[in-house]
This record gives sequence, structure tokens and C-alpha cells, in this order.
Amino acid sequence: MPTMMPSERTVILGGGFTGLFTALRLNRRRYPHPVVLVDRSERFSFKPLLYELLSGEMDAYQVWPRFEELLRGSRITFIQDSVRTVDLEGRWVELESGLSYAYKNLVIALGGALGGAGPDNRDAFFLRTGEETLKLRQHLRNCLQQATQLGEPEERKRLLTVAVVGGGPAGIELAATLADWLPASFTRLGGDGREVRVALLQRGMQLLPQDMSLHLRKTAVDALARRTVPVEVILGASVKKVEPDGVHYERDSSAQLIPAAAVVWTGGGGGGGMAMPFKLQGLPPQGYNKHGRLLVTPTWQLPNFPEVFAGGDLALDPDHPQPTTAQAAYQEGEGIAYNLEALAFGRQTSVAPVRSLGTMMKLGLGEGAVEIFDRYEVAGRLGLLIRQLRYLGLLPTPIYSFKATAYWLTDLLWPRSGMAA
Ligand SMILES: Cc1cc2nc3c(=O)[nH]c(=O)nc-3n(C[C@H](O)[C@H](O)[C@H](O)COP(=O)(O)OP(=O)(O)OC[C@H]3O[C@@H](n4cnc5c(N)ncnc54)[C@H](O)[C@@H]3O)c2cc1C
Repeated sequence: MPTMMPSERTVILGGGFTGLFTALRLNRRRYPHPVVLVDRSERFSFKPLLYELLSGEMDAYQVWPRFEELLRGSRITFIQDSVRTVDLEGRWVELESGLSYAYKNLVIALGGALGGAGPDNRDAFFLRTGEETLKLRQHLRNCLQQATQLGEPEERKRLLTVAVVGGGPAGIELAATLADWLPASFTRLGGDGREVRVALLQRGMQLLPQDMSLHLRKTAVDALARRTVPVEVILGASVKKVEPDGVHYERDSSAQLIPAAAVVWTGGGGGGGMAMPFKLQGLPPQGYNKHGRLLVTPTWQLPNFPEVFAGGDLALDPDHPQPTTAQAAYQEGEGIAYNLEALAFGRQTSVAPVRSLGTMMKLGLGEGAVEIFDRYEVAGRLGLLIRQLRYLGLLPTPIYSFKATAYWLTDLLWPRSGMAA
């Protein structure tokens, strides 16, 4: 690799919740060094609100905005490129385009390679980015349209069936959204919405097995049964193979098939595992845990490389483990920015606690549930409103957030007639 001139530059790899919020805070705090933010996508995916993008309740400019727009007027340089190599000893990063950047400080925030479905399931759809969401939306709309013109009952049934794999929060939020949005869209096209089928496959014998109070779990499970078409929950279903026209699974030792227009994968595992999406040179094997997460100190620094920070889904502080959530990731981004600033001004880095904003779920069109302080639950339309406002309040830049909130509130109070189509 090239011998590079030393640089004062801070390079942030990944513009997700950790990386973007690190950059925005550095910009607000008049950080004295040049900052470069690298992401392979030209847009920021606001993951907790992708269901709203799928259903058309929100628009791309709200939940999938361009980095260029979010960073307009800031002192952050945005580079759209993929990270190929990081050399911790040499203090440089190399991008897919072949360009290399020396750094004084580095932030690694490339997210987790989570949700890989494994080689047998590569025909599955995903909902991890704005691109994937719009691809799924278009595919489902095409299937509904084809179903309106088809008399053959088996194929028509398949076109109107969607299977969701994974009974965690993402699977439940997605299934609930589909079970309202698809029937509404099909009815709008002149079909009978009651023909739509949404199946939710869970390997274990319980939905929402982790991180959820009993009460909220019950609220979520009840909500699935109350959708426009009730979600068909299949527990104990071990998915074997996803094909373009359906999903094969095993249950009680018997092989089953659901013919489906789309199979959407929300669970992890599936043999996909976690792989670092880039080459990291210079880190000893004990620098990772068994899931491939980078181990960091409570100040989000790599133990042997204090000039390098890592946060979000890709990193883990073994003494204070945080859930892999947007809530934790953006707070870690702000903590990392604070510590970068401390280093720049010769101060000590410090530990900032990550607070829980409470569990928040979308449970269909116009319905949500939030649990605040792990005690109080607000469900229904108000629950959805609180969830949306909490998230929209996080959206970068006050003007952007204000605009998005105002549009969203208007839509909630006076729904657009074409929304669900
Ligand atoms: C559908 C869905 C719903 C969710 N709902 C919630 C929720 O309701 N509440 C909640 O708290 N959390 C939720 N999460 C989890 C949350 O979104 C993540 O925990 C959070 O985004 C992690 O932030 P991060 O910065 O670590 O990574 P990310 O936000 O994933 O950002 C990583 C960034 O790195 C970029 N990148 C990756 N590899 C490369 C590369 N090689 N080169 C260049 N760029 C690269 C990506 O493009 C991306 O922009 C949800 C996640 C999903 C998928």
C-alpha cells in the first residue's frame, strides 16, 4: 500500500445511525479537523421507518433522504464508495474505487452484516435499506395487478400470498403492515382484499422471544389477529429453502410448502452468519467476538488503537453490551463525536450512558404501541403517533425534521386518498 502523508483528517466509515450522527454532531460542535463520511449508498436508510416507505405512508425524502441533502451547508465531505480495506497500523483506508485516505482518527460504523439468509434462501426479499424496500413494494404491486387479471385459482392464490420469516420485532411489524396494506391495495385495484394471505413463520414456539415485556408482547400478538386480514402465525417452522415461488419449511418433522409471491426474510442466521464487509488489517483475533463484532472499550475505542472508534451494530463493549438498535447506535455516534472532540482539544475521553427510549412498534396501518420507562404502554393510533414523532425527532437537521413531522402530521389527520395503493 502507498506510503501516505500524515493527515489531520477524521474518516467516518458508514453513514448509518452511528456514522451519520457522529458526523452531524462534529459539525455542530465546530470540530477543528476535516471530516470525511464514506457510505456505499447515496442515501441514509431510516430503518425503523422502512415499513412506512413500503406502505406509502411516508415518502422517500422523509425516510430515505440523500446524504447530500442531509449534509448540505455542513463542513462534512461525503464520499459515495465502498470500503475495501482498513489498515490500522498504517492509518489509512482504501475504497473500492481505488482511492485511499490517510486518517488521524477513524470511526468504523458499517453496521452489522445481519439478516443474511444463507445460500439456500437467496431468493428471499429483504427490508434493510430503502432500495430493498422499494424493490419489494414494486414487486408486490406487480403481483397484485397480475392477480386482478388471472382466473386460474392456484396461481392467483400464490400471487396474493406473502410469507414473512422471523417472529422478532421486524417480522411482526412487517407482517402487520402487509396485512393491512395489501388488502387495501388489492381492493383499490378492484379485487377482493379478503383473498390476501400473510403468513408469519417463526422457528421457535413464541413470537418476540427477547427483549419485550409480557404485556407488549400480548399487545403485538393481538394486533396481528386484528389486521384487515388476520396474520397467520406458524410457530415451530424451520425454513429450509426460499424459492422465487414460495417457501419450504419443516414443522413437526414434516415438510411443508407455502406458495407465495414473495418471501421476506427478517430473521438473522439462516447460515448467512456475520462477515466483516471489508478487510481489517492489524487487528489481533481477540479484537472480535465470536459473532464478528469489534470489541471496544466503554469509550468506543479499539483497545490497541485509541485513535480508532467503532460503534453501532458492528461493535460491542463487552462490559456494557447494548442491543443492536437504532436507539443505541445514534447515541453511540454522539458519544463518539464527543470523544473525538475531547482528543482534538487534549481532554480525556469519557463514557456516556446509552439511554433506552422505550420499546416502540408499528402494528399495522394507523396502529402502534410504545412502552415508556419499561412501565407505561400506549397503544393504538396514539402509540403510533408517539413512535413516529420520537423517530422523526431524530432525523438529521432541525429543518428537515420539522418539515417531515409537519407533512406526516398532516397526512395522519387528513389521510391522502391514494396512500395505500
Ligand atoms: C427493518 C428494520 C427495522 C428496524 N427497526 C428498528 C426499530 O424500530 N428501533 C430500533 O431502535 N432499531 C431498529 N432497527 C435496527 C437499527 O436500524 C440498527 O440497529 C441501526 O441501523 C444500526 O446502526 P449502525 O450505524 O450500526 O448501522 P446502519 O444504520 O446499518 O448503517 C451502516 C451503514 O454502513 C454502510 N456500509 C456498510 N458496509 C459498507 C461498506 N463496505 N462500504 C461503505 N459503506 C458501507 C451502509 O450503507 C449503511 O449506511 C431496525 C432494523 C431494520 C433492518
